[in-house]
Amino acid sequence: MEKDTYSPKHSTPLPTREGQGGGSRLVIKIGSNVLTRKDGKLDVTRMSALVDQVAWLRQQGYEVILVSSGAVACGRSELKVDHALDTVEQRQLFSALGQVKLIGLYYDLFREFNIPVGQVLTMKENFEPGEQYDNQRACMRVMLENGVLPIVNENDTVCVTELMFTDNDELSGLIAQMMNADTLILLSNIDGIFTGHPDDPQSQLIRTVAPGTDLSTYIRTEKSAFGRGGMHSKYTTATRVQAAGINVIIANGERDDILCDLFQRPDQIPFTHFLPQ
Ligand code: GLU
Repeated sequence: MEKDTYSPKHSTPLPTREGQGGGSRLVIKIGSNVLTRKDGKLDVTRMSALVDQVAWLRQQGYEVILVSSGAVACGRSELKVDHALDTVEQRQLFSALGQVKLIGLYYDLFREFNIPVGQVLTMKENFEPGEQYDNQRACMRVMLENGVLPIVNENDTVCVTELMFTDNDELSGLIAQMMNADTLILLSNIDGIFTGHPDDPQSQLIRTVAPGTDLSTYIRTEKSAFGRGGMHSKYTTATRVQAAGINVIIANGERDDILCDLFQRPDQIPFTHFLPQ
C-alpha cells in the first residue's frame, strides 16, 4: 500500500455544498446486519437510534436519502412456514411481508420528529438511461424539495435471479450518483477496510483511500450473515462512486452515535473514507 493512502487521522471528511444555499446531500445505506439481532429479529432499538441520528443530520441542514435493507430479514421473523419454499419463493414472501413492517416502523419512528417518509422501491432496469430513470430521479427530487425523506429498497418481490442488484451496496451507489450526492455512507457491521482480518490485532484500519488505489489484496470475499453484501461489494461500489466524484464512507452502524460522530468527531472514530476523484 502506498504511504499516502493511510494516515492515522482523518481529515474532516464530510463536505457542505457551498454556494448552493443548502446542506450537503447524503445517501445513507443501512445494511441488514445493522438492523438485525443475532436471532434474525429486527433490532428496533438500533433502528430507533439511527432514526434519531438521521433526524439530527436533517436539523443540521443535511439532505438525507436512506437506502435500507432488512425487508427479507424482517419478513422471516413474521411468519412460520411449515413447508419447504425455494429460494425465490422465500425472497418474495419474506420481502413482501417484511417491507411493510420495515417501512411502518420507519414511519412511526420518524413521525416523532415530524419527518414525513416516502417509500421508493426500485429495480435494476430503472437505472438504464431513459424514462424510468428520469421518473425515479424526479420522484426523489420532489420528495426532497418537499422535506420528505426517501427510504429506498430494491423491489425484492419482483427482482429475482439475474434481474437483481448485487445487493443494496450497489443500489445505494447508483442512487448516490443519480441524485448527485456529496457523500455515500455505507453502514455495515465492521469499522471499515483493514489490512488483514478485522479480528487480527496486527490488522490496521485503512482510514483514507485516494482515488485509483488498489486495495483488492485486503478485501475478504466472505458475505455477511443476513444481507447479500460483503466487503467485496462495498469496495467495488466505493471505488465506482469515488470515481464519480462522491465521498464514500464505510463505517460501523453497530457503534452508538456513528452518524453524529462522523460529522462531529471524525478524528476519534474508526471508518474508511474513499476520497472523491
Ligand atoms: N433488499 C434486501 C432486503 O431488504 C437486502 C439486500 C442486501 O442485503 O443488500 O432484505
